[in-house]
Amino acid sequence: MHRRQPGNPAIAALALLNVVLWLVFVTLPDDVASLYAFQYAAEVCSSTAVILIAMALVLSARLRFLERHFGGLDKMYQTHKHLAVLAFVLLAVHFVTIPDSGLLIVGKPLGMLALVGLVGLALLTVAPRLPLISRLLHLPYHRWRITHKLLGLFFVAGVAHYLHVGALSTGTVPGRYMLLLAVVGIAAYAYKQLLARFLEPYRPHVVEQVKRLNGTTVEVCLRPSDRKVDFKAGQFVFVRFTGDRHLHEAHPFTVSSSPREELVRLTIKASGDWTRYLVRNLKPDTAAAVYGGFGMFDYKAGGRDQLWIAGGIGVTPFLSWIRELDGRPGVNVDFFWAVRGAEDAVFLDEFRAVAEKHDNLHVFVRYGAQDGNLSVDQIDETVGGNLAQKHIYMCGPIRMMEAFAARFRRLGVPAAQIHYEEFNFR
Ligand SMILES: Cc1cc2nc3c(=O)[nH]c(=O)nc-3n(C[C@H](O)[C@H](O)[C@H](O)COP(=O)(O)OP(=O)(O)OC[C@H]3O[C@@H](n4cnc5c(N)ncnc54)[C@H](O)[C@@H]3O)c2cc1C
Repeated sequence: MHRRQPGNPAIAALALLNVVLWLVFVTLPDDVASLYAFQYAAEVCSSTAVILIAMALVLSARLRFLERHFGGLDKMYQTHKHLAVLAFVLLAVHFVTIPDSGLLIVGKPLGMLALVGLVGLALLTVAPRLPLISRLLHLPYHRWRITHKLLGLFFVAGVAHYLHVGALSTGTVPGRYMLLLAVVGIAAYAYKQLLARFLEPYRPHVVEQVKRLNGTTVEVCLRPSDRKVDFKAGQFVFVRFTGDRHLHEAHPFTVSSSPREELVRLTIKASGDWTRYLVRNLKPDTAAAVYGGFGMFDYKAGGRDQLWIAGGIGVTPFLSWIRELDGRPGVNVDFFWAVRGAEDAVFLDEFRAVAEKHDNLHVFVRYGAQDGNLSVDQIDETVGGNLAQKHIYMCGPIRMMEAFAARFRRLGVPAAQIHYEEFNFR
């Protein structure tokens, strides 16, 4: 059954504790309280922002032991994003409320550097979601990732700013608390940038076959050189092809084969530079390093009646699930797959063959180009209502999943019964 993860509440508690420590340990004498009120508020905001960014750095260090506390690595990246956005709002409040001392001190330029850098990185991150900015500034993912690595350096500048400005909390309990968490964040950043590439465990594999499924999608079959990468059905791995210099960067892909198979199969659609190159050029015998598995997208943790909804290439976790089936699925499943046209529905026969053998698995496909987009109301009508009882598993374009999740909520499905995997970390 679905279990609430303590990760996000724990981070909220760390931030809240900061405010409590301020209220308890940094008290201003009555005669100067109004004079320092703005500085006080500004510093509570900035110290909370420091704690949030420190935690965001910890989450981006890809520490596997944290996954189960957040519901999977993909959810950790989402929390990372939300923490950063919240921190940037707090920093902006800090910037507009902090009184100018008029002194020329080294802390000031450090603070400006941190603020401009962090806000700039936040804008680059949200740019693809802002139509005007994304038109002006098209930053491919791999370039964005290079800029994003500066996050930790701007953070260090922010902490150095704190140490040089004679803050109200200097030497107090909340001051030390914030510095302690900042050091944890900096350590996580240093680990990720300097050590992770040597310490992160990976399994060497070799490309056995590259099967062309249609004009834009291939199935890459990987043979383990020694031990196979360890994954559960529905999990994703990071893979880099060490035998091709254009494919050295690690990218995430859900494993589409069953964990019981000898080979590891990835189904990859060309959606940017790296995947386009791979679809056109990846050859058998290329060496690959596989990291994982990651994620907690697992229908076995859900209830008896389930809806599985895939959009396009988001079908891969469901493929792994049906390929792992040994006998009848233990749950009743209505599987909906939204694709643009018949040429994209490359695994439909396989799904239908499994459904023929199992009377509690039903398969529905929707061809968007011909019949229009799939909607929650059509799903509701097809399955005969009663949605509130169902556990819903979705994987596909984020806009589709967000819209579907909102509609399911309005139709009475509790949030805890809606599970989704996002194919996007930015
Ligand atoms: C958990 C997860 C599972 C996925 N499973 C599949 C799958 O089974 N099949 C499939 O075809 N695609 C899958 N994807 C998407 C796939 O990772 C991207 O399409 C691919 O990385 C695009 O890279 P690109 O350089 O070709 O395109 P770009 O245009 O550069 O990137 C497109 C988007 O892909 C994401 N992305 C790119 N590179 C990385 C990276 N190194 N790390 C993290 N995210 C990145 C970013 O969100 C980016 O905005 C999955 C993504 C995630 C996050």
